[in-house]
Amino acid sequence: MSSTVAVLAIDQGTTGSRALLVGRDGGILGSAYEEFPQYFPGPGLVEHDPEEIWGSVLSTVERALAAADLTPGQLVGLGITNQRETTVVWERETGRPMGPAIVWQDRRTTDRCAALSGTPAGTLIRDRTGLVVDPYFSATKLEWLLERNPAWRDRAASGELLFGTVDSWVLFRLTGGGTHATDHTNASRTLLYSLDDGDWDPELCAIFGVPEGMLPEVRDSAGHFGTTDPDVLGAEIPVAGVAGDQQAALYGHGGWSRGDAKNTYGTGAFLLLHTGGARGPPVPGVLTTVACGPRGERAFAYEGAVLIAGAAIQWLRDGIQILDAAPLSEEQARSVSSTEGAYFVPALVGLGTPHWAAGARGTMVGLSRGTRRAHIVRAALEAIAYSVDDALEAMLGPSDISLGTFRADGGAARNDWLMQFQADLLQTPVHRPAAAELTAIGAAGLAGVATGFWSEPEGFLPAHGAERVFEPDALRMADMAGWRAGWKRAVRTALFWASERSRSP
Ligand code: ADP
Repeated sequence: MSSTVAVLAIDQGTTGSRALLVGRDGGILGSAYEEFPQYFPGPGLVEHDPEEIWGSVLSTVERALAAADLTPGQLVGLGITNQRETTVVWERETGRPMGPAIVWQDRRTTDRCAALSGTPAGTLIRDRTGLVVDPYFSATKLEWLLERNPAWRDRAASGELLFGTVDSWVLFRLTGGGTHATDHTNASRTLLYSLDDGDWDPELCAIFGVPEGMLPEVRDSAGHFGTTDPDVLGAEIPVAGVAGDQQAALYGHGGWSRGDAKNTYGTGAFLLLHTGGARGPPVPGVLTTVACGPRGERAFAYEGAVLIAGAAIQWLRDGIQILDAAPLSEEQARSVSSTEGAYFVPALVGLGTPHWAAGARGTMVGLSRGTRRAHIVRAALEAIAYSVDDALEAMLGPSDISLGTFRADGGAARNDWLMQFQADLLQTPVHRPAAAELTAIGAAGLAGVATGFWSEPEGFLPAHGAERVFEPDALRMADMAGWRAGWKRAVRTALFWASERSRSP
């Protein structure tokens, strides 16, 4: 009889770390969550302390094991999923971080990116990586660190100093310095990785002045990443899965085939559309990224980012204070049969996919004397659905992919009215699993498949529990077509306002 009874998932997120234990039947045996400090040392700067990240990982793993009444020796393996793009540099010999981690949200390299964007190098970067030249991604953060610390360069070239995204950092510590590796999904978010070659790209490294000696080895998301140092967790546990958070969530939903899509309705919304084993053609305003096949093998996806989703509801609650609590938005929306022509484009921090208009701002149009609070609240919820629809339309339009199963998770996906509106708008069913922690479940799935804990990837899907499916109402198609046209006009208004502003003082 096997003495291993669970897979451990470590979900190292932007505001906190989570550990989750999944049993052989896909049931969740225990979990723990802990926040850690965020540092904002100046306008646009966002940092983490790598030691605090690591501390929160260790303590949540210990607490989750205690909650499930398990010992480390009962773990068949572990998987890591992580906040993507965040950049860490540390010393191989001592494992000591060389300074703070620069978080994906940090904007310190905005000028550098603007200067690169219109150049031949910018075009090469876009073609090779499937990304856009933006401070969001790791390379300009690493370049910034190397330029400010000239003494690091030689040490980095000889492999004394190591670079990694957060997966690599946690992996290095877990294995007692034994493994310096990452997976394809994380590597594909750095601007240093060639989508076609599946590895670091020497020309991209040269553009950003990054010595290749400091880069982690790129491996498949489900596979061998070494074993944990017994001094760290008390047992030698195979690390068998690694994937970035959005890709892990897609995998956790069972989204591992061409046409599968998932949208996370959180503060912002992140949409991933699986394109199968081949890289899809470039689509304007849409990122191309690495995703996982059924057994964690390298596959591809389109990715869209809606910068404000649930945050629009937060703003109604905390900003203009017309809502007492986010869930109450649902009854407000139901209390009216339409917005009566009102639209709210919640471009509070600009617009993401497919417009990428950093200067756009929130816009309300179509107001009349009859406009009431409920209409504005409903317009905000509708805006979330319209924004996701725009991103999906941008992906599906120029490609030959047809949409398979559309799955939803994240805080605002709890809103039944929003899910139904989304289904009616997309005219496709929206599947919402009962389990909330799809990201961690995905990491557990990868590790469980790699270790043979589940002989088939479907083995971990029961962790979802019963899902609810929102079926589209065909009778609402005509309404939707008209409303959607109105939304697009409202977005054009927001974009026009932004473009006029940049022209006049
Ligand atoms: P994140 O992981 O980005 O912090 P969550 O997935 O926890 O976000 O979702 C929180 C967001 O969802 C908040 O912006 C909140 O306003 C929104 N939200 C939560 N519940 C609801 C609801 N019932 N209806 C609409 N929005 C909601």
